[in-house]
Amino acid sequence: MNNSTETKTKKAPAPPVLGADVGGTNLRVGLLQNAELSDVRQYSTRQTELVQTIADAARELGAAAVGAGVPGTLDRARRRVLNTPNLPSLAGYELAARLEDASGLPVFLENDAVMLLTGDVHRLGLPEGGVILGVYVGTGLGSCVFSGGSPYLGANAIGVELGHIPFPGNAEKCGCGNTGCAESCVSGAYLERLVCEKYPGTPVADAFSVMSEELKLRYAENLACAIAAAVNLFDPDTVILGGGVPAMRGFPLDEVLRGVYAHALKPLPAQSLNIKTAPDDGASGVLGAALFAAGRLAAI
Ligand SMILES: [Zn+2]
Repeated sequence: MNNSTETKTKKAPAPPVLGADVGGTNLRVGLLQNAELSDVRQYSTRQTELVQTIADAARELGAAAVGAGVPGTLDRARRRVLNTPNLPSLAGYELAARLEDASGLPVFLENDAVMLLTGDVHRLGLPEGGVILGVYVGTGLGSCVFSGGSPYLGANAIGVELGHIPFPGNAEKCGCGNTGCAESCVSGAYLERLVCEKYPGTPVADAFSVMSEELKLRYAENLACAIAAAVNLFDPDTVILGGGVPAMRGFPLDEVLRGVYAHALKPLPAQSLNIKTAPDDGASGVLGAALFAAGRLAAI
């Protein structure tokens, strides 16, 4: 090791960064400073002026930059929103520019599943160089794959959109504009519709407590099919399952895990399946967005 590292001037502490997790249901923000996340706040996405709320929090908390996870697809430059099935008002929106105008700060956007997995990999202490699949069931069904420390992007930088793989026989219209997507039958939005139609008056948080065994098993099987499709495509060494839905009372986790194993290719990757549930406190997306922005800021 070169001794010159010892004589280098002490590195300045990293500036505080605001992380924002823009979900279809909740907007969460928090400040990352000295490796600690603090001041986490939650708002209802539908009742909040998104840009102003994030900009106000950044200014008030003294942030030097903003990182925001968006539940949808972004342009390659990560400036403009392309398609947000569960927040249609953001489609085509120049979100990075609007946030920069409102906050006066540099803004770094990414897909929300990338931010969630960034936070979870950090919190679970997973090796960053592995192949890690993140599946997040919230209002929608988000996903991403890290390989060698970077998210898989694809030719158009769209990433891994497990929520929009087609399920044969599914005639439901999806928020993305297509018909038959996995997300239309495996998501929090589906549970909300189901409760509204079949069990009116029941809070969506109790959906798994009131729905019939048949419906619950079908939900578990549909989610397992989506996860197994990604397992067989990407051969991950770790799968992280997170989001608000797996944290709900009565979520059929054992049935989902059994279904993933049943549909995973034998002997491998089935025999090496390592599925972990994410911390369920809702902080991973905020932390991941802040870590992502801090990394980008340091690279400037
Ligand atoms: Zn879709």
